[in-house]
Amino acid sequence: MSFDLSRPLPFYRPTGRECELFETAHDHGLPLLLKGPTGCGKTRFVEYMAARLGKPLYTVACHDDLSAADLIGRHLLKGGATEWVDGPLTRAVREGAICYLDEVVEARKDVTVVLHPLTDSRRTLMIDRTGEELAAPPGFMLVASYNPGYQNVLKRLKPSTRQRFLSLSFDFPAAETEVSVIVEESGLPAARVAPLVRLAGHIRALSGMDLEEGVSTRLLTYAARLMAAGMGVDEALDVAIVEPLSDEPDVQQALRDLIAAVY
Ligand code: ADP
Repeated sequence: MSFDLSRPLPFYRPTGRECELFETAHDHGLPLLLKGPTGCGKTRFVEYMAARLGKPLYTVACHDDLSAADLIGRHLLKGGATEWVDGPLTRAVREGAICYLDEVVEARKDVTVVLHPLTDSRRTLMIDRTGEELAAPPGFMLVASYNPGYQNVLKRLKPSTRQRFLSLSFDFPAAETEVSVIVEESGLPAARVAPLVRLAGHIRALSGMDLEEGVSTRLLTYAARLMAAGMGVDEALDVAIVEPLSDEPDVQQALRDLIAAVY
């Protein structure tokens, strides 16, 4: 939730024109929605862009108990008196910063009510509890992400909310890019990363059938880090890929068969 303006530029390998698009959206005060499976680089992209633009970043990981007050702020008791404390969204608006709501569909419904006036031409944040109406300065940008792959109908983003954001689809990087990302993140040589990415291609082809989701770049990076640290391939793939992806013995066996076919 915090930021450090002196931070180094995080490593991010662009996969298309997403950086230019982000910059244009930022320059014109337009909100941006990043759609894509978990672990494909959305958060890393936002961290990279915030650093590249030299902007403070407030990241909020949304969950099903996250309410509007968690974003806006609340009165807290301090030494016998109550004091208003800004939440991360309010701080971002005041400072003209970037606010990133990760997995926004998880949040409670009252959050969308707060987001609507911020994401249309009004660009205002209403703080009901203090009666304050904050106008977002030009530098403020709202970025949200969500995973359209989840089957849960209740967790879909409503059209009235979606239609307030520019949207950008993210997916796992192309094989060559994914190899270079994993090499960079893990230190494992490319010749050893290539079979991992081939394996990922086979696993992702299964997603939607036996698997809810394909394997993320994040998990592949974990597997590569374990191997770079000297762990054997079977053990590394078991803890970084097979077990995280499924609890079903049949599906786990299918994954182990795929691993045996690739290695
Ligand atoms: P998400 O927010 O989509 O769930 P993250 O941004 O946390 O996923 O990404 C997970 C990992 O994927 C990152 O830690 C990073 O190692 C890797 N990654 C994926 N795509 C890229 C990319 N294009 N450049 C750099 N790292 C990437």
